Amino acid sequence: MPRLVVVSNRVPVPSSQGSTATAGGLAIALEAALKSHGGLWFGWSGKTSGEREVEWLEIRDVGNVTYAVADLNRRDVEEYYAGFANRALWPLCHYRLDLTDFSRKDMAGYFRVNRSFARLLAPLLRKDDLIWIHDYHLIPLASELRHMGVKNRIGYFHHIPWPPVDVLAALPVYDTIMRGLAAYDLVGLQTDYDVENFEGCLLREGFGKPLGGNWYESYGHRFQVGNFPIGIDTGAFVKTAAEAVKNPTVKRTLQSLNGRDLVIGVDRLDYSKGIGQRIEAFSRFCEMSPSARGQTTFLQITPKSRSEVPEYADMQREIAELTGRVNGQLGDVDWVPIRYVNKAIGQRELAGLYRMSKAGLVTPLRDGMNLVAKEYVAAQDPENPGVLVLSRFAGAARELDGALIVNPYDTEATANAIGRAISMPLDARRERYNAMMPKLRKHDVANWCRSYLDCLASAPEMPKEHPAAAS
Ligand code: UDP
Repeated sequence: MPRLVVVSNRVPVPSSQGSTATAGGLAIALEAALKSHGGLWFGWSGKTSGEREVEWLEIRDVGNVTYAVADLNRRDVEEYYAGFANRALWPLCHYRLDLTDFSRKDMAGYFRVNRSFARLLAPLLRKDDLIWIHDYHLIPLASELRHMGVKNRIGYFHHIPWPPVDVLAALPVYDTIMRGLAAYDLVGLQTDYDVENFEGCLLREGFGKPLGGNWYESYGHRFQVGNFPIGIDTGAFVKTAAEAVKNPTVKRTLQSLNGRDLVIGVDRLDYSKGIGQRIEAFSRFCEMSPSARGQTTFLQITPKSRSEVPEYADMQREIAELTGRVNGQLGDVDWVPIRYVNKAIGQRELAGLYRMSKAGLVTPLRDGMNLVAKEYVAAQDPENPGVLVLSRFAGAARELDGALIVNPYDTEATANAIGRAISMPLDARRERYNAMMPKLRKHDVANWCRSYLDCLASAPEMPKEHPAAAS
């Protein structure tokens, strides 16, 4: 196996003791891939360096992994990260044209930062390195590297949904985005639906043609497109959840419930997650089921994210107000329907909280995959599992067919599904759990890495003159 070079927007460099601070699903997956192969992890440190242009990298070796990170200056963060990535590409890929802001200045910043990253990365590359670039922040990076003469195999993985052509085409530079993707050897997407949408963008707009199998030609370059649904470390999560009953936070929560049923939701505070619709559905469920009133608690764990983007700050206020209103209307002196927590909870505690919850509510309006859905199922006690209520618009719904699948825009139906989940007989719960667990074990995160990298490594050699570089 050649050396693996992973590039992602944020790089969680371990402390000198070797431990990583809080790592999300993506970071955990990439860390596992790099540790088993050894290699280089390149990206933004997450730090802002005032107004200065950043021209240098901080490089640190930890075990068999070299971390190479750059700070960004304030303008870069505003335009590249908070601007184009999170106010144009993110809402667009989540079908939210109403929230999409196309600023020319931000677009220019996005391409400028990708060019700077290419300049910093290129000197670190070796001839046979396999380069794996992650997510929407970095789409143009391969074409920037190609312009600098890099001929290595380069793969891209898109962690979020790929929208249909009529949504993408609203982006003024959508052709440049598609051209940027044609500079890769493998474009990986989460589900077959995303592949369909991507193919629609290539074919209907005349950007490319199919060559059979999963091969396409676009802007003179041949590349593969495939779906590689990301997984979790299922074995480790099952073990963590079984041990978490001893965790002090988990014990304290169980005690505080005083015999009531727990229903759980865990999401970053993001408009794509459907948190408001979920609260409305839970409220409706309480109204429809008088016996559940006072007997069921909904715990919504929602760490804040991207507070620098105005839409997120607005949403923070709206959800807090909605929660307050529902608790005020339905609550009693000894019971509040919703416990709303705005801080991040560690994976160990989460695993235990999932396990004690009779239902997991994962109801995004649109989501690339949603790892919480997979974690909730993996955390269950096989003898007495809870039930997953899952949005049809999460990538995870393509695999987790033992969940109660809902349309999160349909408050009434979601409320009914919550009721069904809580009162489902043991046999039916076990049957649903047993239908999903073999898939979660087989398609775990190690399998995701392996299948993607095998496909990338087996791509044919690049021609000497790369057409994308000549354009
Ligand atoms: N997560 C966490 N603590 C929290 C909230 C979330 O560790 O308080 C983790 C969660 O366990 C999952 C990841 O963050 O591994 C969220 O991934 P997901 O795909 O569900 O959503 P994303 O945030 O990537 O859109």
